[in-house]
Amino acid sequence: IEIVGAPIFNERNILKGAVLLMYDITHLKKLELMRKDFVANVSHELKTPITSITGFAETLKNGAKNDPASLDRFLTIIYDESTRMQGLIEDLLTLSKLEKDEFEITRTVVDMTQLVQEILPVVDQRAEQKGITLTTHVDDSITIQADAERIKQVMINLLTNAISYTLKDGDVNLSITDEGDTVHIQVSDNGIGIPEKAVPRIFERFYRVDKARSRNTGGTGLGLAIVKHIIEVHDGCINVESEPEKGSVFHVYLPKYDPALS
Ligand code: ADP
Repeated sequence: IEIVGAPIFNERNILKGAVLLMYDITHLKKLELMRKDFVANVSHELKTPITSITGFAETLKNGAKNDPASLDRFLTIIYDESTRMQGLIEDLLTLSKLEKDEFEITRTVVDMTQLVQEILPVVDQRAEQKGITLTTHVDDSITIQADAERIKQVMINLLTNAISYTLKDGDVNLSITDEGDTVHIQVSDNGIGIPEKAVPRIFERFYRVDKARSRNTGGTGLGLAIVKHIIEVHDGCINVESEPEKGSVFHVYLPKYDPALS
């Protein structure tokens, strides 16, 4: 609390009283702290790849380019790190648009079966590389009124996470069911799970249970923050149930499109 005080005098300059103003600045302080944290996080996340890019480029310049094996290895690192940075910058731009309320969604009537067909090729390959069995179930003829590209992004993010945080030969399932007014999307895995105290935080920007592991999987820590925003602008909600070493289930609920009502 911030307190500002001032004396009050009468016409003959005799002290009559005082005014005290008390401002509750907890909220402001919190916002300021969050902003500082955010800037620190972004800087750190960008610094890591750029340090390795400049380091390896310099090593190549200083002669390593003459050794074909090093040339190949260092160029691969430079390429991977630049791709990571690009991903991070794209995520940051998406998040900043989402948070500024200038995020425009173009709603059309989206058929869930078709949407799943469109995202499967993107995630199938990743699952296969890791020997993970990916199964899907979609109830017949469910439609939502939504921005198809954004909802695809949500499902791809959730499925990519499920694949990343599940050990080799695990199982990931996507199921979309009709629950009256609501469409229930479930992404479940039998992976590493999330510790109980981390569960409330995983939708925060940059929050990661295990930074090292997440970086190895190419994560930026922004994926779930973006997912949550997209679901909320579609008047939906998201939550997670998880148990360490057993796996996680992400539940997304979206309003169903009812042609009879429009
Ligand atoms: P990241 O880019 O690190 O994956 P996200 O925002 O997508 O960032 O997720 C935040 C954190 O939540 C991850 O770093 C990971 O610790 C945890 N997480 C997300 N999905 C899962 C999952 N299916 N199983 C276990 N942990 C998960």
